[in-house]
Amino acid sequence: MEGSGGGLEEQGQFEIDLDLQCLYHDGTLIDLDATEFRVLRALYEVSPAYLSISNILERAWESGDTPRFVDSNNVHQSVAKLRRILAVYNRSISIESKRHRGYRLAWPGKDSDRDRFITPKLHKIAPRETPQAGPLSHVELTETHVAGFDLSGARLWSYRFPSPLRRSIIDRDEWRVQLVDFHDTGNPGALITARFSDARKPDSIIFLKPTGEVAWILDASPDLIDYDGGIFPRAWTFRHVIPYRTPQGILVWAALANDAGWPGCVLRIDSVGNAITHFANGGFVEWLCPVTIKGTECLVVCGENNAFDLPFVAIFGVNDVPCCSPPGGRPRYRYRNGPTGFPRKYILFPKTEVIEVLARPYGHANRMDQSEDNLIVQVEAADLGAYFRYHFAPSLEPKYVFPSGNYEFVHRELERTNRLDHRLADCPELAQPLPLRIWTPQDGWHDGAIRWRDNPWREASE
Ligand SMILES: [Zn+2]
Repeated sequence: MEGSGGGLEEQGQFEIDLDLQCLYHDGTLIDLDATEFRVLRALYEVSPAYLSISNILERAWESGDTPRFVDSNNVHQSVAKLRRILAVYNRSISIESKRHRGYRLAWPGKDSDRDRFITPKLHKIAPRETPQAGPLSHVELTETHVAGFDLSGARLWSYRFPSPLRRSIIDRDEWRVQLVDFHDTGNPGALITARFSDARKPDSIIFLKPTGEVAWILDASPDLIDYDGGIFPRAWTFRHVIPYRTPQGILVWAALANDAGWPGCVLRIDSVGNAITHFANGGFVEWLCPVTIKGTECLVVCGENNAFDLPFVAIFGVNDVPCCSPPGGRPRYRYRNGPTGFPRKYILFPKTEVIEVLARPYGHANRMDQSEDNLIVQVEAADLGAYFRYHFAPSLEPKYVFPSGNYEFVHRELERTNRLDHRLADCPELAQPLPLRIWTPQDGWHDGAIRWRDNPWREASE
């Protein structure tokens, strides 16, 4: 370091530890709350530029602090506190404010002189035999343990599950093991959705810190009560779990079904494992897709609705009031304590020909595929993995529907055994658009339709 700063260096230097989220002055740890640290970090990272109040809110507050509890006053208070703390140690670093611009870190001399006053703390290089471990980069599961590894393949930690896992299910669903960095520290933890081989134990989401310790565990047990006041059997399972980025931080959404009955719902889970029922459905919820509609963050969900005995897809805003599936159908499939809001749109798929012929109650809408401008809901159209793939715009405007390849073979097989009285080329179901039942808060239930994309099966047969 050059001596041109005169007496300023004699005041010592701040070091900011971005990994461990600490601030030091001349090697002495400064006692900062987590929020104050994140405010300082946000200012440091953009310095010497200004950071607006709303940007500070986005970067420094946890997703669990929902926006209605946090406002610009919290920022002003944190900055006031930080100023007092910084002034105790050193008067070279200060926090300046400017109307309509926000706050910035300031120091004497040129803007490029920042590192003379505050620098990132570099961890001491470990001896060559034991290289410094990097952040968690992947995890490996056995029936009884999960182990975390860094990019070099060095094992960082292992964790023993409270009970052995049902590996066949865990291995089938890649979403059950995910790395999640709730606070964008560059240091993710492991989010594991466990299904245990002991069927009496409920499914659990286990979040392990970057160091492998348990941060929180959430059992699959939403607070929903049956329409008649009855308690649902403790048979809830997670069907799909996704992390979801919002301006306030990362949330987790979970789709649930009760294997001993009909209920299903979606939980909104914050970074410390608090869950609320955000969507209560008259049937299982099977899959989740995040979408953005005109700048509004939304979630599309699909599954079945037992009040109508039909598969469904629906959309709601992630900051809308919690909601229920819309009214109608058999009233038995409702909750005594369900949320009071409604989704933005709720669509029932038809009971299609082969499902009827096979005497199945309905086809399941058990997964979605997504691209930038397209959302495909996969609805069972027969046994043996034959599907109708319904294409929608992200706002759930119907585009077209198309059968999966093996649907043709199922139809032909039913022709051959005389359970269908027509050839696929003459199929009345494929001759006109499929009917949809659509519900919106504005229009209630009304009829809709979705056209077939094209009909190559006809061309092939003619
Ligand atoms: Zn047919």
